[in-house]
Amino acid sequence: MSNGVELVVLPYTAVSFSIVARFIFMYLLYTKRSTNVYSLTFCGLSVLSSSIWIPYGIQVQFLVDHFCGKWLQKKSCDTQMKRCIVLGGGGFIGGHLISRLKSLGHWVRGVDIKRHEFKETDADEFIVADLRDPVQVHVVIEDGVDEVYQLAADMGGSTYINTGEHDSDVMHNSSLINLNVLKTCAQKRVKKIFYSSSACVYPEHNQLDPLNPKCDEGSTYPAEPDSEYGWEKLFSERLYMVFHKDFPTLDVRIARFHNIYGPYGTYEGGKEKAPAAFCRKVALARDGDSVEVFGDGKQTRSFLYIDSCIEGILRLMESDFKGPVNIGSEEMISMNDFMSMIIRLSKKTLTIRNKDFHGVGVRGRNSDNTLIRARLGWEPLYPLERGIQQTYDWIVGELAKRLA
Ligand code: NAD
Repeated sequence: MSNGVELVVLPYTAVSFSIVARFIFMYLLYTKRSTNVYSLTFCGLSVLSSSIWIPYGIQVQFLVDHFCGKWLQKKSCDTQMKRCIVLGGGGFIGGHLISRLKSLGHWVRGVDIKRHEFKETDADEFIVADLRDPVQVHVVIEDGVDEVYQLAADMGGSTYINTGEHDSDVMHNSSLINLNVLKTCAQKRVKKIFYSSSACVYPEHNQLDPLNPKCDEGSTYPAEPDSEYGWEKLFSERLYMVFHKDFPTLDVRIARFHNIYGPYGTYEGGKEKAPAAFCRKVALARDGDSVEVFGDGKQTRSFLYIDSCIEGILRLMESDFKGPVNIGSEEMISMNDFMSMIIRLSKKTLTIRNKDFHGVGVRGRNSDNTLIRARLGWEPLYPLERGIQQTYDWIVGELAKRLA
């Protein structure tokens, strides 16, 4: 290449390269995927290319810097890496939350009494610890952490929490976890804590009509949850609020989840929830079989896909709204219709067999999203059918792995 051509081509290649590098950097910041590594790499590349073309591309660089510099700076402050701890990080929602926090560029420690059953953790650090023990809680929560997400609980589906067989365990274990965690967070000056409460706090007397359940946040009191699990959640909600009152530096956010479902959740063994149990039953059935639904199948519920739940948690944490607030779907469906939907998606020919069961729970439950819509502008991302197809496919894959 002659000198003349080099003089024309080099600077323009460098200009283009520098601009592309800058735009990639901005995109990463905008989508909040920026980490220090990305920032340094792209800034470095940009500076390097600038030094080659300064005499030729000074005007272009000036324009880019002028229009994007301040915005970039602000964005980069917004997306600073936080130190987060996810308690219950070996569980279904905790596992997904860890992955999402990591994708946002934060430093994450997962803590659980067990490792995740279905995948390797994405956390920077994972500690196996029993949060019922105050000494272990003291070790896993360190001074000045930015955010703690408290998802650890002794919980399961209706066969676990509604039969009455695990009531003392559920109340004792989960209360101890919350008591220990809150005391340590207050002592160690944690900045903000998220608490995962449940739709099970709502009074049974408002959930007798399967077609018209009442589950808005204002209807919580006078309290009459239908399970001890619900009573513990209500007690702990109050505990979080009272700690915030007495230790104002500990900011608190409380959400009430309504039946969260999706891949990487327990689907057998007694602690699985209805969506996973239904998918497993259908996946294991052969054409001509019947699949079991507890009760008369006319009881109603709504189900929220995991991605929407995680988005709700993050929005709540970023907002100045403390809750308690419902995070659920308003797409209410009867249990027989729900099972029929899964059968249809499986393309199998199956019938439903309703079976008497004393742990069916309330007659009707549906999320009321008026408050979350108004305060956070949040809506579920997927209709039930789309989310349940993904969950069914994942469970089929897991069962197939076992047979292989
Ligand atoms: P999950 O059972 O998968 O996760 C809970 C985790 O807590 C488990 O991994 C468990 O090992 C851990 N844990 C239990 N005892 C512990 C202890 N002593 N020390 C440390 N870890 C311990 O349940 P999930 O569906 O991920 O639910 C997360 C949170 O959301 C729970 O608090 C649950 O009550 C709440 N919630 C969930 C739903 C839902 O539909 N999944 C609905 C309402 C509320």
